[in-house]
Amino acid sequence: MSDLRDLYQEVILDHNKRPRNFRVIDPHSHKADGFNPLCGDRVTVFLDVQDNIITDVAFQGNGCAISSASASLMTEALKGKPVAEVEKLFQNFHDVVTGESEPSASLGKLAVLAGVRDYPSRVKCATLAWHAVRAALENRTETVATE
Ligand code: ZN
Repeated sequence: MSDLRDLYQEVILDHNKRPRNFRVIDPHSHKADGFNPLCGDRVTVFLDVQDNIITDVAFQGNGCAISSASASLMTEALKGKPVAEVEKLFQNFHDVVTGESEPSASLGKLAVLAGVRDYPSRVKCATLAWHAVRAALENRTETVATE
């Protein structure tokens, strides 16, 4: 198990250092800002949705390693997915990072964040970008706060 933890740690550090899809999408179909006052993490997510498929998704912002890595991993997970699957994937991810369920294969690489369950104050760091994406897809324009 400790080897697996080391591997997870490595993936998180890599995504923090070299975030994937860290850019602005212009023009975009959806956008939202998220803020986690507990930690100070800020994220802006951009989506391009065509025929109910997420054809592109990216983010900007700054925050702790967990929030940046989670946003980066999320963009990889959501690209090419139907909008209808976002909520299901989010609930799955949320249950894993809060320790309510064990990671399943459908979670893919997002499972590397499962260790967050041991640090309850970091759950909001890990879910911030997801809250922003959900707000963007619902066309909510106010900044989403995790509190
Ligand atoms: Zn944070």
